[in-house]
Amino acid sequence: MSLKRDASGRLHIESRLMGESLMDKTLLASTDGQPIYRLMPDLNVVKIGGQSIIDRGRAAVLPILDELVEARRSRKILITTGGGTRARHAYAIATDLGMPTGVLAKLGSSISEQNALMLAILLSQHGGVKIGHDDLHKLPNYFAMGGLPVTHAMPPYGLFETPPALGRIPPHRTDVGAFLLAEVMGAQRCVLIKDEQGLYSADPKKEPAAKFIAEIEVNELLARDLNDLAVERSMLEVLRDARSLREVFIVNGLERGNITRALQGEHIGTRIFKAG
Ligand code: ADP
Ligand code: MG
Repeated sequence: MSLKRDASGRLHIESRLMGESLMDKTLLASTDGQPIYRLMPDLNVVKIGGQSIIDRGRAAVLPILDELVEARRSRKILITTGGGTRARHAYAIATDLGMPTGVLAKLGSSISEQNALMLAILLSQHGGVKIGHDDLHKLPNYFAMGGLPVTHAMPPYGLFETPPALGRIPPHRTDVGAFLLAEVMGAQRCVLIKDEQGLYSADPKKEPAAKFIAEIEVNELLARDLNDLAVERSMLEVLRDARSLREVFIVNGLERGNITRALQGEHIGTRIFKAG
């Protein structure tokens, strides 16, 4: 690529995007030509829910870790963690004190990270190692050394988190973080471990008559505009636009065997997928 001076005297490096604002729609569409390189097409990203699982303590957490330790003998698993009740407590205090969304996102992230540290320590006999987001491209090396990496699922928007259209809670939390991580790694699968069978037409804890949804296309789910969801809305929007990953599973980790079956490719719980 050679240097080129334009009529106005500006110097460019000659390339397809030279001198562009990167806003032209036709030009943007043309950047999607090459297939996405998948760093780890055999990776399974699992998120252990903060409120749904970790806050239940050892009775819920230890059997899930046992299942993951067994499953990782034959596959690569990256464990990620939610925040849960402590994050909600921090959000409540911070909103009361008038904190902006970006500050709430910082608080939520450190709580998700505390959970990652605890799980990594619980897994230390099995190669458990807490890693940061900057270490993700080193995952193949951790696996080569027999490691079982654990990281926080809160995406690193931090102070730059976008204010949501509704309310002040950070819209990108740990479901979308786990999904984005799986997407950028070109992972095989993303499994969200929670405490219900999957997605229902309403929160089954509040509406016992809510209907179970075994499988749904993401645009259809977005169009339904359900009042409450088992996953963050931002995760659905990211799945809609994802290039690599085309589905996500929600499984009930409180029933032993579900995680193993999901990792074996069985359709357990709810599958949210992108058509086409
Ligand atoms: P996590 O801690 O894994 O992030 P959350 O507590 O944030 O989990 O979200 C999962 C919870 O969402 C479920 O336990 C359920 O009570 C609730 N929920 C709300 N709406 C729905 C829905 N439509 N279908 C299923 N669960 C729902
Ligand atoms: Mg949640």
